[in-house]
Amino acid sequence: MNPIHPIYVSMAPTIFEHMSALAKAHGAINLGQGFPDDPPHPDMVAAVARAIREKSNQYPPAFGLPELRAAICDFYRRRQGLALSTDQVVVTSGATEALAAAILTLVKEGDEVLLFQPAYDSYAPMIRRAGGTPVSIHLRPPDWRYDAEQLAAAITPRTRLLILNDPLNPAGKVASEAELAMIADTCIRHDLIAICDEVWEDVRFDGLPHRSLLAMAGMAERAVKIGSAGKIFGLTGWKTGWLCASGDLAQALGRAHQFLTFTTPPALQWAVAEGLGQSDDWFAPQHRRWAASREQLSRGLDVAGFVVLPGAATWFLCVDLAASGIAISDRDFSERAVREAGVATIPVSALWEGEGPRHILRLCFTKDGPTIDAAVERLKRFRETVRETP
Ligand code: PMP
Ligand code: GLN
Repeated sequence: MNPIHPIYVSMAPTIFEHMSALAKAHGAINLGQGFPDDPPHPDMVAAVARAIREKSNQYPPAFGLPELRAAICDFYRRRQGLALSTDQVVVTSGATEALAAAILTLVKEGDEVLLFQPAYDSYAPMIRRAGGTPVSIHLRPPDWRYDAEQLAAAITPRTRLLILNDPLNPAGKVASEAELAMIADTCIRHDLIAICDEVWEDVRFDGLPHRSLLAMAGMAERAVKIGSAGKIFGLTGWKTGWLCASGDLAQALGRAHQFLTFTTPPALQWAVAEGLGQSDDWFAPQHRRWAASREQLSRGLDVAGFVVLPGAATWFLCVDLAASGIAISDRDFSERAVREAGVATIPVSALWEGEGPRHILRLCFTKDGPTIDAAVERLKRFRETVRETP
């Protein structure tokens, strides 16, 4: 008998790893997996080096350094007006681990979990591994609207949980106040817990402050908010994230975390605590760079004849291939473009379970100017060859 759990028997590598490996093999520009090319902020490098020299390099507390937990509370108080206390915060090894801990804590055999598609790729496999069933609600481009009727229709007596990724990767959509209120109201009426994957909360280009589902009336007791220093500081390899929840729920999440990774490297925790304490002015140049890159890629794609979908957040832009006059699927486009044009992208259909669009491509813009120009030029030329393909 095969000793491997059926979920893992034929599981493919993630689309991000797949495309990054192809980018490397073909020497392509990597606009696939989401990460910035900027060098790390020197203050973050100095902080982590200082922590390794001067602080403990042994196991920190399982729930995270008290200083980091306090810094997370302060950061959310300043930025989002949240009133969290340190006992409501658990530090994890990235948001991916936070998601795993939350799903293991909250999903029981036979539970149904509502997922909005497109969805981050770890949600559904983790729900299934925990014995639950993901139930998809399909969002539709170009506005990716959250619809009350669609949501209500997906709820059954087995529904226990909902996962909301706001802002939404890959679409860059930000839920409106009315949509958040509708989702909160649904959670309360049907007694659902919400896992709020808010890793993109600080990567917004609409000038508005992030509004957490956890902050909506009646949600404090039934929301698990997840964040990631990887996105806030553009340091994806640091894998330092956190969970925020109230009372017994926070304790239980911490217990799930203690048997996943137990704890997260202390030097990274010290540096993230320092970084979260920085002023808005300290964060501004990074944000300006990302906004400029976003504008450059958007303009370049537009001039090259690609239709860019609206969005307001994340490091990604989405292109509607069909509207751009390109007849091949997003998967075919990505697989060919990385080989033939030397540009890696992500087909959005890879982040979609069930029947969804097959004509949307995600591109990461956090690259320097010449890299973006070169990628656009290559995609423009590639586009001509695709057109000629019968
Ligand atoms: N959730 C979403 C929606 C993401 O986009 C990502 C990373 N791109 C993660 C979770 C994982 O974050 P981390 O790298 O902190 O594990
Ligand atoms: N979340 C990142 C993205 O959307 C990738 C994370 C990963 O590679 N697992 O690009």
